[in-house]
Amino acid sequence: MRVSIRFKFLTISIISILSSALSVFVVSLQEHQTIYAESVKNNLAALTRNTADDLLLLLSDQDDPFMIRTSLLRFERYEHIKYAIVYDQQWNLTSQYMNPEFFNDLSKNSRPFPDIKASTLSPGVSIAGDNMYALSPIGESSQSEGYLLVAHEYQKPIDKSRAELMRLSLPLLIVVLCIALFAMLVTIRQQLVPLLRLSSFTRRISRSKDYSERFQISGSDEISTLGQDINMLLKEIDEEISANQEKNKQLTEQRESMYRLANYDQLTELPNRRHIMSWLGQQLNYSKKTQSLTGILFFDIDGFKGINDRMGHEIGDKLLIQVGEIVRSYLNGAQVLARLAGDEFIVVLPDIEDRSVAYKFAEQLTLSFIDPIYIDEWQIQTSLSIGIAYSDDADYQLDTLIAYADLAMYYSKNNGKGCMTVFQPQMLLESQRRTQIITSLGEAISKNELRLVYQLKVSHLGAISGIEALIRWRNDELGNISPSEFIPIAETSGKIKDITKWVANQVFLDLPTILQHAPSNIKVSLNISSHDLRNGWLEPYLRELHQKHPSAMKSLQFEITESSYLNDYKAANRFFAFIQEAGASVALDDFGTGFSSLSYLSRIDIDTIKIDQQFIHNSGTDERNRIILQSILKLSNDIGLNTCAEGVETAQQAQYLIEKGCDHLQGFYFSIPAPLDQLPENLEHATKQYQLIARAKTAITPK
Ligand code: C2E
Ligand code: CA
Ligand code: CA
Repeated sequence: MRVSIRFKFLTISIISILSSALSVFVVSLQEHQTIYAESVKNNLAALTRNTADDLLLLLSDQDDPFMIRTSLLRFERYEHIKYAIVYDQQWNLTSQYMNPEFFNDLSKNSRPFPDIKASTLSPGVSIAGDNMYALSPIGESSQSEGYLLVAHEYQKPIDKSRAELMRLSLPLLIVVLCIALFAMLVTIRQQLVPLLRLSSFTRRISRSKDYSERFQISGSDEISTLGQDINMLLKEIDEEISANQEKNKQLTEQRESMYRLANYDQLTELPNRRHIMSWLGQQLNYSKKTQSLTGILFFDIDGFKGINDRMGHEIGDKLLIQVGEIVRSYLNGAQVLARLAGDEFIVVLPDIEDRSVAYKFAEQLTLSFIDPIYIDEWQIQTSLSIGIAYSDDADYQLDTLIAYADLAMYYSKNNGKGCMTVFQPQMLLESQRRTQIITSLGEAISKNELRLVYQLKVSHLGAISGIEALIRWRNDELGNISPSEFIPIAETSGKIKDITKWVANQVFLDLPTILQHAPSNIKVSLNISSHDLRNGWLEPYLRELHQKHPSAMKSLQFEITESSYLNDYKAANRFFAFIQEAGASVALDDFGTGFSSLSYLSRIDIDTIKIDQQFIHNSGTDERNRIILQSILKLSNDIGLNTCAEGVETAQQAQYLIEKGCDHLQGFYFSIPAPLDQLPENLEHATKQYQLIARAKTAITPK
């Protein structure tokens, strides 16, 4: 049980005040009694002696009993004197006085009188029972005439006096006690108030935890010192807490920034690969459990490397940020965009209703890049190549899902970029084949698996005007692989350089044989890839070959597909200037497809346009195609470029092209691509085929 200090103080004080008051009171009473008894004794002794002296005269002079009795009557004045007796020398009662107060009623008379045997008493005052007795000899004690005994009531007056004293002093005592208690209460209260204030202050602090508060100190007693100590303690706690808070804040900031560094891309502020992978992993587990569908979009920015190279990394960075913002604006709360690396991003669409959601999302993204993006002074026309894959296709496996979406994106890239592709299982087989091709291609040259075949070109006048070197690859496991399949793979897997080198070398080697059989002004064409131009290695390599075979270049033509110009036509022109200077010519391959832009015709220095096969194949059936074909031929003639039609398969096509002013014809009709040892027969065959047209033409032309 908690006992308050106030209660303790109060109890102790009350006990001490009461006990001291009581002891003072008791001592006073005792003292009063002693003083009273002493005074009664002295007075009685004096009265008895005086009376005895008076009696001596009466006894010796007259011995008159009446006078003696009269003399004894003086005791009437003393209310407490019970009786007085005069004895003679032989202790015989000679006279007496009896106070009627004590002896009037019968009961009192029944008491023995005198109630004491006087001769047994010694002279002076003595106390026996409730009475005080004074015995005095009358006359000199040695020759006394008699004795005087006075009995004085003793106990009763004392009790009465004590009662009177108590009656008078108790109220005073009580008043004094009350005042003392009140004063004490006030004092205790006064002393305890600061302590109580301090106590409620500390309780308040412990509740509020506001350690900046301070106790208001007043006075300079122990409680003030305690208050000061508590204030000092609070100050230290406060400082300690502030320091801890500061430290905690720093730690939290550090933790947050470390978390951000570890999980977010600093440039775009999007989740990074690590973060999205761990999140997506969890999402896939959830999808598997709930059998829900999660879709991902894997995409990159088409031509990002070129933009970075041409416009600088700062613009590249800004483009990444802007693309991130554009894509992010299409996300709802549950969907997440992350930057995986470079210009590669991923969008995760969790718990989608069906596959169309991801497809529509990708469609939206594709459309949002139709308009150019403006960054600083640049207007950037770009697009996204998107691959889509779904959780169930990948059996909810994270790596598999990413690989599938990546593969689908690769198809988008191959399908001309700026488009989307949904992952299909057969892509895996194709991808496996692609991987196999890449692996085998690495050894194709060393294993001597490559060779060249040649396809002749005939001029509109019937002369053999050119011959195109076309590569062939036969692998033991893969069989014959078309260049249409392996050249694009070689381009994207970094293997094209070795192939182009091998082709150029082979053409330089084959050239004397060709010139031996074919007309001396024949142009031997070789295909070069846009990738060869971009890397800048080709020019020095050809310079070397040119130095070794100075006369060869004038017999060569380099065929380049249009895409190469789109990347960097200035660099392409520098290359063309070199080869044209060295005596070779340049043909623009597959004209009319891909990235063709008529404006390039005026910007690049080429000699020949090779019209893509599709225009020739469809020329017999499609009127529109025919018109385009005619326009290309006319346009080329007008700006002074040579034209060569590819894929001429029939005499009608050949005839039609010659009629419309095409300069050179190439196709199965004249010659299939064949090994060099078949060149003589092919030359003969091509000439024959031309003659067939010429004859037919003569036959139908009216003379
Ligand atoms: P290209 O340069 O347009 O070559 C012409 C393609 O058309 C050749 O296919 C050829 O065999 C085929 N062709 C020729 N006449 C006809 C015809 O009358 N009808 C049809 N349907 N096709 C005809 P090929 O040899 O399969 O080459 C395909 C492509 O591979 C080439 O197209 C070229 O872009 C690339 N290529 C071939 N050899 C090389 C090479 O040595 N280096 C590089 N970089 N690319 C090459
Ligand atoms: Ca070609
Ligand atoms: Ca072509």
